[in-house]
Amino acid sequence: MNHGEDERLPGDLPADRRDFMRHLAALIAAAGAGLHWPGVADAQQPAAGGPMPAKDAVRDLVGIQMGPHTMLDEGIEHCLDLIQETAAIDTIFVYSHAYGGDLHKPLNLLATDHGVPVKDQQARKLPLVWVKRHDEYYKDTTLRHPAIDTSFAYHDRDLFAEMMRPLRQRGMKVYARILEAGGRGIENFPRVATTNVYGRPTGTGCWNHPEYIGFWRATVEDLFRSYDLDGFQWGAERASPLTNIIQNGNDNSAACFCQFCRARGKAHGIDADRARQGFEEILLYVQRLRAGQVKPPDGAAVGVLRILLRYPEVLAWEYQYRLSREAVMKTMYDQIKAIKPGAPVGWHVDHWATSMDIIARSAMSYSEMAPWSDYLKVVVYHAVTGPRVRSWVSNVQRSVLGDLTLEEALDLHYELFGYDKALRPTANAPAPPGTWRDYVFRETRRSVASAEGTTKIYPGIGFNVPGATDDPDTIYQVVLKAYEAGANGIVASREYEEMTVPNLRAMGRAVRAPQRAPARALVNNSRMSP
Ligand SMILES: [Zn+2]
Repeated sequence: MNHGEDERLPGDLPADRRDFMRHLAALIAAAGAGLHWPGVADAQQPAAGGPMPAKDAVRDLVGIQMGPHTMLDEGIEHCLDLIQETAAIDTIFVYSHAYGGDLHKPLNLLATDHGVPVKDQQARKLPLVWVKRHDEYYKDTTLRHPAIDTSFAYHDRDLFAEMMRPLRQRGMKVYARILEAGGRGIENFPRVATTNVYGRPTGTGCWNHPEYIGFWRATVEDLFRSYDLDGFQWGAERASPLTNIIQNGNDNSAACFCQFCRARGKAHGIDADRARQGFEEILLYVQRLRAGQVKPPDGAAVGVLRILLRYPEVLAWEYQYRLSREAVMKTMYDQIKAIKPGAPVGWHVDHWATSMDIIARSAMSYSEMAPWSDYLKVVVYHAVTGPRVRSWVSNVQRSVLGDLTLEEALDLHYELFGYDKALRPTANAPAPPGTWRDYVFRETRRSVASAEGTTKIYPGIGFNVPGATDDPDTIYQVVLKAYEAGANGIVASREYEEMTVPNLRAMGRAVRAPQRAPARALVNNSRMSP
């Protein structure tokens, strides 16, 4: 399952992207007088000729996710000035590789108050790769990022080189950002495709394939040897085989059973054939449940547990899947640290993983990920959590929780995840605004607790997300709540191109609010290896 930067709901559900009217008038009215703050630059890197950091300035990361095309559309200096002045941003997260990203948002989702006319992105041919490729680093793999020919917009630009001087002049940093998502034009990608329970290839890459591992290692080596990057964020919005089966139940949902995965299983004492058989049985069972073909007399969930008891290899395989993914991340972490030890390396933890997928949450705590994670950016998109949870749980309720009503299944989810049930919408509508602060607080606090002080937690605050009716007060309050819950920093999400100026200003006010609680100090953790 791939779904671009939280654009698509899991499984085969249509994306929940009803275009709610933006309350522009309210936003503009609530914007208040322009607040002009000095640059919140890192104390180690005072701006050359720019504003000096304020004495009491925030020292931890204040980030924003930024589309590379947006920077070039609006102008690099214009973008940087706007986000620094309004939202006190000190670090930009820019796609170097946007495979899972959505660069083609429709006009009605783009903020129109950035001072530059918006472009119709759907009418353009935008590249997915925004850095130059250097083949000498790709020694261990035949895979290559797609070449950007002259038919692409901005093919003649080199954003990550061009932005460095403007960034440094403002005391700002840049983290390259990657979202993995299947082939998407990657040369020779079919060589590394995962194998489903029927032995057929899928459109997804295998974490255990040496060429796929080598491809990501080469990618970060190229990035950090070719550009003066300050940090890195990588993500893969991909669920595990068992979650995939429960969420969508299609024939490709359970993978991978390729020779490399089998070898890994064998090395860990797992019978690959038994694992494959068990996954196939669960898949067929869930497909029958979803089709309404069976009503198990002992209960739908009992049917799954019965298969798991007969095939304990399934859960063992499932855990190896997660460890394989973490191993790819550790490979990138080690490669970057070998080149630039001080560069923070961290991971995008998508909304499904933070707030919906109990298997992902069970597989690994944040402190277990810490040895290869300087930080985790955990998605806490307040306004869309309610409807997304509802879509997610409805898939579970159509399969393994078939003995419950949807409302009972939702109750169970909210109990298990420790969220206030008031977050739950009565229909497929945004969560009630009164619940948003509480959700951001609870999920941030849970993340900080799961990290046990071993890695930094940066909540990804989602604002102007489609379906949200954020006003500046909401943004101000949820950012404060994230800090109150112990966040080490925050990352404005999903994309700068969606964020209205009044909301950016509200974030800036919260970042500088004097009542912010101090973030927890980090402790060492090196007890886990994937
Ligand atoms: Zn495999």
